[in-house]
Amino acid sequence: MPGPVESADVIVVGAGPAGSAAAVHLAGAGLDVLLLEKAVFPREKVCGDGLTPRAVRELAGLGLDTRPEAGWRHNLGLRIWAGRPYPYLMPWPVLADFPAYGLVRRRADFDALLADRAVQAGARLVQPVTVTAPVLNRAGRVVGVQTKAGTQYHAPVTLACDGNSARLAIAAGRDRRLDRPLGVAVRAYYASPRADDLWLESWLELWDGPPGRSHLLPGYGWSFPLGDGCCNVGLGLTDSSTGFGRVDYRDLLRRWLDTTPPEWGFREANRQGRIGSAALPMGFNRRPLYRDGLLLAGDAAGLVNPFNGEGVSYALESGRYAAEQIVQARSRGLGCGAAERALQAYPVRLGRAWGGYFRLGAVFGHIIGHPRVMRLATRYGLPVPAVRQLVHRLLANLSDQSPRDVYDVVVNTLSRLTPSA
Ligand SMILES: Cc1cc2nc3c(=O)[nH]c(=O)nc-3n(C[C@H](O)[C@H](O)[C@H](O)COP(=O)(O)OP(=O)(O)OC[C@H]3O[C@@H](n4cnc5c(N)ncnc54)[C@H](O)[C@@H]3O)c2cc1C
Repeated sequence: MPGPVESADVIVVGAGPAGSAAAVHLAGAGLDVLLLEKAVFPREKVCGDGLTPRAVRELAGLGLDTRPEAGWRHNLGLRIWAGRPYPYLMPWPVLADFPAYGLVRRRADFDALLADRAVQAGARLVQPVTVTAPVLNRAGRVVGVQTKAGTQYHAPVTLACDGNSARLAIAAGRDRRLDRPLGVAVRAYYASPRADDLWLESWLELWDGPPGRSHLLPGYGWSFPLGDGCCNVGLGLTDSSTGFGRVDYRDLLRRWLDTTPPEWGFREANRQGRIGSAALPMGFNRRPLYRDGLLLAGDAAGLVNPFNGEGVSYALESGRYAAEQIVQARSRGLGCGAAERALQAYPVRLGRAWGGYFRLGAVFGHIIGHPRVMRLATRYGLPVPAVRQLVHRLLANLSDQSPRDVYDVVVNTLSRLTPSA
């Protein structure tokens, strides 16, 4: 067996949002961090590139300057198309716990920026290196990782942030939970005059012809303006949707986009680059999130929000939670019982933060996954301003923990009273 090439206090596998965020917090607390990444930055990542105020709050905590002067493109909220020929405008709420703006940034650029931030904080980024399996000691504890090139990295704690492939977690026997929702999303970039729009756009109903007089397609759609001449346009659906697993997602995207006004530019001739698709692992779909020296965060832990398909914020936040628990464990002396309890508190903390909310999201997704139910909801629910505001806050998981209005109370109470996912 090859000997270790390098060792550290913590190994973080994957330098996406979860891994880089964890590395920033760990290195910032003085730990020696090895951040192992399969690709070489900048690299493409199939995503909608949309960041809600939840994600913006995490970026601030990572020490990133997200002001427009620093090159970030702010958006004001959501423009929702549903059930009527003109849209609803839903500005991001003004809250104490979150900023009132979102961002859009290509993941190729965004992820490179986060990885740079981790390096600045002191993490050792190694790329390209493909991790294939954990290294176990005699007691079955994870004490490092094995790479495709045949080398090993050793550390007393390992954090799997390798995205929806969850290769390390699977190799360590962490199973996927089949009772959790799973989504698929597909996206492409189009040169468009709407690229400077200040609103994220979302379609709750997708038609393949004139609305109300053609076929209602499964799923929801988006257009996120990048401000660089292009929009990121895509659609997603969950396994509770009619046709999930049987439809051709690229064809679905084209059929829907062909119904949008030609002057928007969402046509094949204006497409820049390939159409990409990937899975959305939702609602804690892998377990256990900690055992025997290995923690899971981000998509590797199945932390995409079942309400809206948002995963970047939950990746950033879970990376931070994992880092904080590892820092506490280390201060107690890794390997002792007290340190182990700090690591075991990680899944408990995630469950407390999002358990009820994700369970609620799974139920919501199941109900709304049927196009007819969605139609009823958009026709009779959304026109009511109070319902609209509540749905907006609930879907984006934006409420103040110390409630300041009735929407905070309802969102917090629903999340707290729903049994954890
Ligand atoms: C089409 C689509 C649209 C989406 N739109 C949005 C959106 O607009 N907003 C939003 O918030 N979320 C969106 N999501 C979800 C979001 O992309 C993910 O939830 C998010 O990227 C998860 O971050 P992560 O760090 O956990 O994983 P990833 O971003 O997948 O990063 C994992 C990293 O690990 C590396 N890696 C993988 N395997 C290995 C290995 N074996 N060894 C070493 N390194 C490895 C990868 O190269 C990658 O850099 C979308 C997803 C899809 C598919």
